[in-house]
Parts: sequence; structure tokens; C-alpha cells
Amino acid sequence: SGLQKYFPIRKGLLQRVKGNVQAVDGLSFTVQKGETLSLVGESGCGKTTTGRLLTRLLEPTAGKVIFEGRDITHLSQGAMRPLRRDVQMIFQDPYSSLNPRHTVGAIVGAPFNLQKVKPEKGVKKSVQELLELVGLNPEHYNRYPHEFSGGQRQRIGIARTLALKPKLIIADEPVSALDVSIQAQVVNLLEDLQNELDLTYVMIAHDLSVVRHVSDRVAVMYLGKIVELADRTSLYERPMHPYTVALLSAVPVPDPERKAKRERIRLKGDVPSPINPPSGCRFHTRCWKAQDICKTQEPQLVELAPGRQAACHFPENTSEQTIKVV
Ligand code: SF4
Repeated sequence: SGLQKYFPIRKGLLQRVKGNVQAVDGLSFTVQKGETLSLVGESGCGKTTTGRLLTRLLEPTAGKVIFEGRDITHLSQGAMRPLRRDVQMIFQDPYSSLNPRHTVGAIVGAPFNLQKVKPEKGVKKSVQELLELVGLNPEHYNRYPHEFSGGQRQRIGIARTLALKPKLIIADEPVSALDVSIQAQVVNLLEDLQNELDLTYVMIAHDLSVVRHVSDRVAVMYLGKIVELADRTSLYERPMHPYTVALLSAVPVPDPERKAKRERIRLKGDVPSPINPPSGCRFHTRCWKAQDICKTQEPQLVELAPGRQAACHFPENTSEQTIKVV
């Protein structure tokens, strides 16, 4: 609720603060049990920072993180310890997120030691079951990460994440470092595990094709803010925010007829600096629909239709409706 994360920029010998990188600036959203909510946007939009705030790997500058009705924003590390079992993270790069000097057994079993949990069946048996659960050979318990392919390493990372039976998993670009041919296998594995273990996912991604496959709802981020939040079907079929429209226009379409009819929107310029973001609507410097009001008045994230929110003075694909500020 109202999550904000500013990173101060310090300069000079006295390390005086010369400004802030406004990585996340006032995000409010909920994640329902059992769903997959995806956070999408270009690099630097704040999606990874948001994931780290949710897991308390970062402290927010302002705002709250509420988990199962409990405000966990300012819990001490000690008080957070039991909660760390419930909220786990899958990291982007399976090459760097596994310690090359440790065996797979030690890596997947590490959370048991860290959390001082003694599994009923013993660590080795539990680790072997986890390896089997993610489609790896349990006999490879004593092998090292370099003996596995990229997809297999990500499976090892997923097995480690599942060790403590989490409820919520923050998956930070879980397939973007993998070959395209392997991506589908890992995405399908995540879906199967969600159904089997009743997991809730926050998926951080920039590949809209993958997001379409896995999400129940999608939040589109731009320069530290959510600009549109909707269920997957509505977002892909009737995007309301111009930025979402532009992002979707760049997604490859395999059907030549549909491709011929579709207009590709090329945004002008680069994403502005998060140190000094544009006034009013942060997207106005690149938006083809921008009017004067967009430069001065920041549009609020409002509900334009049931379950659909967008932050735009002139949204697309909408008829006259009661607009409710959320
Ligand atoms: Fe574009 Fe204005 Fe909407 Fe921002 S508020 S997205 S500048 S039309």
C-alpha cells in the first residue's frame, strides 16, 4: 500500500545527498491467494525493486507491505524469520544464483539449515523429493551446478525455493536468461507446481508473450508507477493505457493476416531519468495522445471498469463510465 522506494544519490567527500532515484513511487495493489499477478514494464520501471520490497530484501522509503492481514513493513529480521518460509524468491539468473562450490544437495537443502527446520524425512530424502518434484533426477544429489544445463539449474533454484513450502513466490524474470526452447518447460513447471502446491505468484517479467501465458492479472509499470492493472484477457484484448497499447503493439504475432492489420506503435525517445521524472503524467514525453493537462496533472490510477484500473486522462478502449478513484 503506497509503496515507495527512493535510492539517494550521494556525492562528494561528505556524501551529501544530491537527489534520489525514484525507483518505486506510490504503488498500491493486492495479490489474491492462488493467483499469478505479473509486473511488467521496460528495464528500470521498478518491477524488480517492487519484488524486493515485497520480500523485505529492501526497506521501503514509505508505504506498507501487508501479508495475510499483518503489516510486515517494519518487522525486525528476527521477527521476519518465520515469515521468510512463507515468502520466497526465484532469481533471474540460474548461472549466478547457485553457489558453484556446493553440491545440488547442499544448495536445495540450505533453507532447512538457515531456518533451522528439521524435515520429518531427513534433509537428504526431502531434497531428493524436491528434485523429483521439479523434474530432476534425485540421484544427481551430489552433482555440482556446472554439470547441469541452464533450464536444469533454474529447476534447482525452484526446488530450493520450494523447500520450506512457501505460500507466496516472487519470481524475478525466471525464464529470461534461458534459451527460448527451454523457457516453455520452466513456465509449464511453474504452472504445474502452482496447481499442485496451491502457490501464489508475483511474476516479474518484460516478455509479454510469457506473461500472457502465465498471468491471471497484469500490472503494467512505467517509471516507478503502475499505469494499468487488469485481468489478462482484458489487458491483452482491450488495453486502456497508451503505454500498454504501445507495448502490446511490439509483441510478435504469428498470424500473418492479423500481423498485416496491426499497427506497430514506436514510442519516441528513451525512458526519462527516474532521478527527475517528468511532471504530470510521467509518460507524457513519449505519448502520442498527450495534451496540455498531461504535463501538469498527474492522472490517478482509477477503476474504469470492474477490475480494470488505468492512470490516464484519455484512456483507450473505454466508453463513458463512472470513474472511481482507487
Ligand atoms: Fe498519454 Fe496523457 Fe494518458 Fe499520460 S495521461 S498516457 S500523456 S494521454
